[in-house]
Amino acid sequence: MSYTHKIAIIGAGFSGTMVAVQLLRQTRQPLTVYLIEPNLRQVGRGRAYSTDQDCHLLNVPAHNMSALPDEPAHFFTWAKARESGLLENRWVTEVTPNAFLPRRVYGDYLVDLLDKTEQQAANHCRLEKITANVIGITLEPGHIALKLDTGGLLSAQKAVLAIGNFPPSDSWVNGTDFTASGRYFSNPWQTDALAALLETRSCLLVGSGLTMVDWAIALSEVGYQGQIHSISRHGLMPQVHRPCQKRLTPLAFAAPTSVRRCLRQIRRLIQVSDHDWRAVLDALRPVSQSLWEALPLSEQRRFLRHLRTYWDCHRHRLAPVVGSRLDDLLNTGQLRQHSGRVLACHDNGQGVEVVFRARGQTKTQTLVVGAVANCTGSESNYRKLTNPLVQDLLNQHLIRPDPLVLGLDVAADGALIDAGGKVSKQLFTLGPPQKGRLWETTAVPELRGQAEKLARLLLAAGEA
Ligand SMILES: Cc1cc2nc3c(=O)[nH]c(=O)nc-3n(C[C@H](O)[C@H](O)[C@H](O)COP(=O)(O)OP(=O)(O)OC[C@H]3O[C@@H](n4cnc5c(N)ncnc54)[C@H](O)[C@@H]3O)c2cc1C
Repeated sequence: MSYTHKIAIIGAGFSGTMVAVQLLRQTRQPLTVYLIEPNLRQVGRGRAYSTDQDCHLLNVPAHNMSALPDEPAHFFTWAKARESGLLENRWVTEVTPNAFLPRRVYGDYLVDLLDKTEQQAANHCRLEKITANVIGITLEPGHIALKLDTGGLLSAQKAVLAIGNFPPSDSWVNGTDFTASGRYFSNPWQTDALAALLETRSCLLVGSGLTMVDWAIALSEVGYQGQIHSISRHGLMPQVHRPCQKRLTPLAFAAPTSVRRCLRQIRRLIQVSDHDWRAVLDALRPVSQSLWEALPLSEQRRFLRHLRTYWDCHRHRLAPVVGSRLDDLLNTGQLRQHSGRVLACHDNGQGVEVVFRARGQTKTQTLVVGAVANCTGSESNYRKLTNPLVQDLLNQHLIRPDPLVLGLDVAADGALIDAGGKVSKQLFTLGPPQKGRLWETTAVPELRGQAEKLARLLLAAGEA
């Protein structure tokens, strides 16, 4: 009887789905892939591409959204073949390489790619999609037992934690009992929250990044007439892509060992370039992971303290059409942006009293709104997560947070590192959990290459 290699993938967002696709495309030996995801809607789509709002657009142009590193035009070609259907969507004005298409459409693309790969897989390969949460793992020599919340157990030789982004934490509310209020929406990806906010005359979105923009645009799209407030410490919102921005070839960049020198070099490149700063930042993208890895830990910490917010709002930009809708909301005053710190929130039965201190002020102010939504960004401190699998792995000392507490400690090939510093031969990860080591590891252009390499590594180990 031939031996079947079994690989379990925990989480079926972009990362898990693309590891499954790559395993099925690359394997030459009998293989069973378990793709485990509790949320049916998220299979293939994950959190980013399972939105049902057409106004939630990709923030990367179509030409750079292929899921396959060896076929750069794959997504654009897929979309072009569906052009007439896509143009019926009022958020799609063109299907060109520079178009920013709806994230929902991108989710359809990923689901289609997974289905086609499954249909075309060799006879000796099997993809098993399992609807469950993995709540625990037992490591035995040569195999892993995965405990499912549906009561079953799965056995595999290796497992990939493709668990991605987690909802934001409530730590910004300073531990008050406000989190239990029916006027508070803690998880920005909760679909019923939008309908609840629509019932109010005013709301506060805490945070001013991409998630806040998603909410503000979705509210305006469904005809919300109320006042939208947003608050963040710096009050900085994401910058906007230039339409049809020119692309530069990747820049050669000597890795500096200090953040200050790095910033100076980037500024100089922008000054001497004939191009917009956006083109220069984009051209740095292929080297940004190696720049990050070259920085000592103390300098990485300095970056996080002083530059992170500025980097995020310049690097993760909005589609032009989203940017102009946001400008409309700001210009008409429907969206009011505050910079400052929330000190307390209290549900008084009629609404929420939000006490905050504006940036640079000593006096506090109070804002009264109908509801509050948490748009503070994904929680990356694994010790604070309530995900049962994460807790189980931490309790067993099989994983540890990275030194910057941005994700998990991982080796260069994605193998997880346990609490004692031992590199696992059975547990791997990719995507957002690698943020501490790589910094730039959340967007499709980075993740597709990681999925391809990880699949190769997992198969090579199985063949050995
Ligand atoms: C709102 C949003 C918009 C984005 N827009 C873009 C964009 O336009 N362009 C771009 O390049 N990037 C974008 N990104 C970046 C995005 O993070 C990546 O593109 C990618 O979607 C991350 O995928 P992932 O599979 O690693 O994580 P996720 O999408 O978070 O998927 C992880 C999955 O794991 C599952 N899971 C977790 N724990 C368990 C468990 N114990 N058992 C089983 N399953 C589990 C979850 O249910 C989830 O479905 C966006 C991100 C977000 C959040």
